Amino acid sequence: MSLVIQKYGGTSVGNLEKIRDVAKKIVSDCNAGDHVVVVVSAMAGETDRLLKMAHQVSDEPSQRELDLLLSSGERIAASLLAMAIQSMGYRAISFTGRQVGIVTDSAHFRARIKKITAERLREAVENGITPIVAGFQGISEKGDVTTLGRGGSDITAVALTAALKADRCIIYKDDVDGVYTADPSVVHNARRLKKISYEEMLEMASLGAKVLQSRSVEFAAKFGIPILVKPTFGDGEGTLVTVEDKEMEEVLVSGVISDKNQAKITIIGVPDRPGIAAEIFGRIAEEGVNVDMIIQNVSERGLTDISFTVPKSDAKAGFRITKDMVAKIGAQDVKLDEDITKVSIVGVGMRGHSGVAAKMFAALARENINIIMISTSEIKISCVIDSKYAELAVRVLHDTFNLGKR
Ligand code: ADP
Ligand code: ASP
Ligand code: MG
Repeated sequence: MSLVIQKYGGTSVGNLEKIRDVAKKIVSDCNAGDHVVVVVSAMAGETDRLLKMAHQVSDEPSQRELDLLLSSGERIAASLLAMAIQSMGYRAISFTGRQVGIVTDSAHFRARIKKITAERLREAVENGITPIVAGFQGISEKGDVTTLGRGGSDITAVALTAALKADRCIIYKDDVDGVYTADPSVVHNARRLKKISYEEMLEMASLGAKVLQSRSVEFAAKFGIPILVKPTFGDGEGTLVTVEDKEMEEVLVSGVISDKNQAKITIIGVPDRPGIAAEIFGRIAEEGVNVDMIIQNVSERGLTDISFTVPKSDAKAGFRITKDMVAKIGAQDVKLDEDITKVSIVGVGMRGHSGVAAKMFAALARENINIIMISTSEIKISCVIDSKYAELAVRVLHDTFNLGKR
């Protein structure tokens, strides 16, 4: 008998009817002979709903309180799913992160898993009971509930695969049947990839493709765990996230991604002297704000402008911190722009080819899309543009690199 970790995302358990359907699917997989450990996300929209309520009662809710609040979404889905399975006459039991011994650091809202004991999971599996684990959560060494970053149920699934030495890790989705060359809700001729390398998937996820959480891909790569992304219902073959091979290297660009969840902060008239950048970004890091791209203009008369991007959720905090620093560092002003989008192309094939960036910039230029910031790495190129051109940019780049269905 093989041990399979099955993770169902929020869209797969979006309402009670779907929860019953997922329960039927789990029962039928168990009947077919697999040992199944289930990880479940909150019902679609639930985490956002809870987050919205938090922001209605507080401008900057404390991250400790947020974690306790948000972890409840997954608990609701897990317990309902267990009840649905029980009502069919089968044995299932739901668990929180704490109950299965998922211990994390205490970085609330983006906690990292330190160890997993999984005692109760092993016990349940040995007794023929199907465990349903509430994803996205753990417990800090101090005993506080933590969450693992948005989309974090994926990492619960991958980490449990490693901890239990399971044979397979399957991430089920209801609205897409695998990983595509671009978000299929934006690009209608986007193509499903049969397989994708960890490295490309990691870039795509980090650059904003919601389909898998980036940390889960990082974890899977580190432990060599293949992730199969499959449709919850029906028998589509899905996408395998695995080690790079020759075939993947032959493709120049594998995917186009856009991320609207970005904001740009510009500090104007910064004195151009050693230590300033260290001071600004040191303070920002101390407050846990995640900085992505940074550009500094050529200095004129000893003054320069520094722009950087942060996730939208960190925009307020980043703006507040930099505003507080303006007088101290002798800068002139700070501006916040939340109407920006990062569009990126990713592909391991880029390593061996030149001219990819020029082709990308030319395609955007043909549509009169102005590039505000650029950043590159070995296998990706990102441009920050005005949000109103986001969809157009993705479609144009998808066509330029011939990614559509053939
Ligand atoms: P789940 O509810 O299972 O967690 P998500 O909503 O997190 O699912 O992820 C699936 C969504 O990711 C899809 O609705 C799809 O629009 C979006 N998406 C973005 N980029 C891609 C891509 N490259 N391939 C597949 N889906 C993508
Ligand atoms: N419910 C959480 C979120 O929406 C975690 C997850 O879905 O994996 O981010
Ligand atoms: Mg998700």
